[in-house]
Amino acid sequence: MGRRDYYEVLGVARTASQEEIKKSYRRLAMEYHPDRNPGDAEAEVRFKEAAEAYDVLRDEDKRTRYDRFGHEGVSGAGGFRSADDIFSHFGDIFSDLFGFVGAGAGRRRRPTQGADLRYSLNVSFRQAAKGDSVNIKIPRNTTCPECRGTRAASGTGPEKCRHCGGVGQVLHNQGFFQIRVPCPVCGGFGEVIANPCPRCKATGQITEMRELAVNIPAGVDSGNRLRLRGEGEGGMNGGPPGDLYVVITVEQDDTFSRDGQNLLVTRDISFVQAALGVKLDIPTLDGNIVFDVPRGTQSGEIFHLPGRGLPYPGRRQTGDLLVEVRVLTPKNLTGRQEEILREFAALDEQKPLNAARNFIHKVGRAVGEKLSSAGKS
Ligand SMILES: [Zn+2]
Ligand SMILES: [Zn+2]
Repeated sequence: MGRRDYYEVLGVARTASQEEIKKSYRRLAMEYHPDRNPGDAEAEVRFKEAAEAYDVLRDEDKRTRYDRFGHEGVSGAGGFRSADDIFSHFGDIFSDLFGFVGAGAGRRRRPTQGADLRYSLNVSFRQAAKGDSVNIKIPRNTTCPECRGTRAASGTGPEKCRHCGGVGQVLHNQGFFQIRVPCPVCGGFGEVIANPCPRCKATGQITEMRELAVNIPAGVDSGNRLRLRGEGEGGMNGGPPGDLYVVITVEQDDTFSRDGQNLLVTRDISFVQAALGVKLDIPTLDGNIVFDVPRGTQSGEIFHLPGRGLPYPGRRQTGDLLVEVRVLTPKNLTGRQEEILREFAALDEQKPLNAARNFIHKVGRAVGEKLSSAGKS
């Protein structure tokens, strides 16, 4: 049988573009594929013929020689033994094709971003107030340094799966229908690792303990998250790494209680100090200061000391220090103290209203006592 002209075989003009040649070959390959034409010798010849023609015409160099010298110019072209042979030779064109087919197409090892990691970090009140740098150790998956994620032992690489020719799919006969199923040998990835990397056992990643310095900005609060870009799990197949989120928990402090960026301290003073005023030592983040409690301070009164609270992270603003004053009433008076107080009361004529209230209160209690003792008898 004489050899047919390659352009005729593919059904394209001599001036056809690479795109046209490729398109035409794909169509023919699908049409004459042996799996679709079982036992059809004619189809098999056409299938191989098309592959040979495509193999020459897709290569500009071979195509030029063919154009000038005909079949003689490209002796040795073709010689494909089987469909498998052809599949592995033109792996990309078919994977491309099957990929386009959509549902059930071969899987690819696409670059995927690594997972984000979360790390819970407890910091002391002081660290949160002033900011600090803390070293943490986290286990994380990272690209295997030995195989650089290829999963193959050094000096080797993943090889194209011979079973599916790198397509990741094989045709499966089911009655009159043919369906594409993932290749059972390579699991649909189109490649197999003949020599697995011993370090990562062909996973492409290893788990390592990594030490990182975390900068804690001054003023952080419980529940704040710090994002460390690129410090999460390593990406797969060349994908970028994920991020690390450090979630802060701030420990309670013995001296200060916290309300957002405001700090609160509570001090007890005597009723005499409340009336006359007093100088108190008040703790601040920068050491003790003397605070003047003014004369006539009421119990529960709160004084604001602006700018002595916690900084707002990332802002030029600081909360306040709130000083709450509680007035203590003496319980055990000496005879002399009581005498003075009674004298004071006698002089304190300005509050008839309060005196009246006290009287009503006393009467009320007396009535209550009578009622309860009546109930008992
Ligand atoms: Zn490895
Ligand atoms: Zn395979």
